Amino acid sequence: MSRVAIAVHGGAGRRRPGGACEREIHAALLRALEGGRSALEAGRPALDAVVAAVTVLEEEELFNAARGSVLTEAGTVEMDAAVMRGEDRALGAVAAVRSVRQPIKLARLVLDRGREAILCGESAEALADANGLELVAEEEDLITEHRRQGWRRGSGSASHGTVGAVALDRSGGLAAATSTGGRAGQSAGRIGDTPLPGAGTWADSGTGAVSCTGDGEAILRAACAHEVHVRLREGRSLAEAAEAAVFEELARFGGDGGLIAVDAQGNLAMPFSTEAMSRGWWTAKGSTHTAIA
Ligand code: ASP
Repeated sequence: MSRVAIAVHGGAGRRRPGGACEREIHAALLRALEGGRSALEAGRPALDAVVAAVTVLEEEELFNAARGSVLTEAGTVEMDAAVMRGEDRALGAVAAVRSVRQPIKLARLVLDRGREAILCGESAEALADANGLELVAEEEDLITEHRRQGWRRGSGSASHGTVGAVALDRSGGLAAATSTGGRAGQSAGRIGDTPLPGAGTWADSGTGAVSCTGDGEAILRAACAHEVHVRLREGRSLAEAAEAAVFEELARFGGDGGLIAVDAQGNLAMPFSTEAMSRGWWTAKGSTHTAIA
């Protein structure tokens, strides 16, 4: 029936200097799109496609998710992740998890289990363990030298690189997924926008699917992803809805950031108010693209 489509992001923020790093970002975005696209082309649901795409990005330590996450004030890793299915708005999310290799797979497990929507900390980790998801032996396994150095310098503020994906499948199903190490230098126990429905992640198959990145506290206050949904429900175009969410709503709370969104017709929008947002997209009608600035 519908036009299948997928978009991914690798975080909004300042443009990272150095071409070599940018080449790696483009390559990782392409691999993520490929993972999501093959799921969609095989007729699998959008939820599978976004989890496949985010899993690829989590495995890439260039991004602020899973291994490669930024560090808290205490020098620890605390990750948030969420997946949302548009058909029934089912949410699976985990918050402040420390030892999980692939937080997005744990978020998917929470969704499939259907008991709670959001689990945090040790109880989420115990669920991962009981279901055979990979835990790291030591927290150090998730910490890269680059992030350790940033933490020592106290250069917390510019560390974007949250990852996300949104997709539309053949049956018209929409889904969104987001995974992050949070904000560099955050207090231990801080939970950002990513795992909260309507803030960093949202999907409703009647309107659209959204994954946000940027100033988490402002995204939360703006209910940024939900603002896209509200405007789509009012009949506005995806481009208008997405831009208003970033440039009006998020800006109103003093936040910078961006989002990727797909609507029920397969249109895509990727506005951002930061200098850069690494992103990639593919639709059944067109080819694959990636961009940073
Ligand atoms: N929004 C994320 C958080 O606040 C960070 C980011 O997207 O850069 O946890």
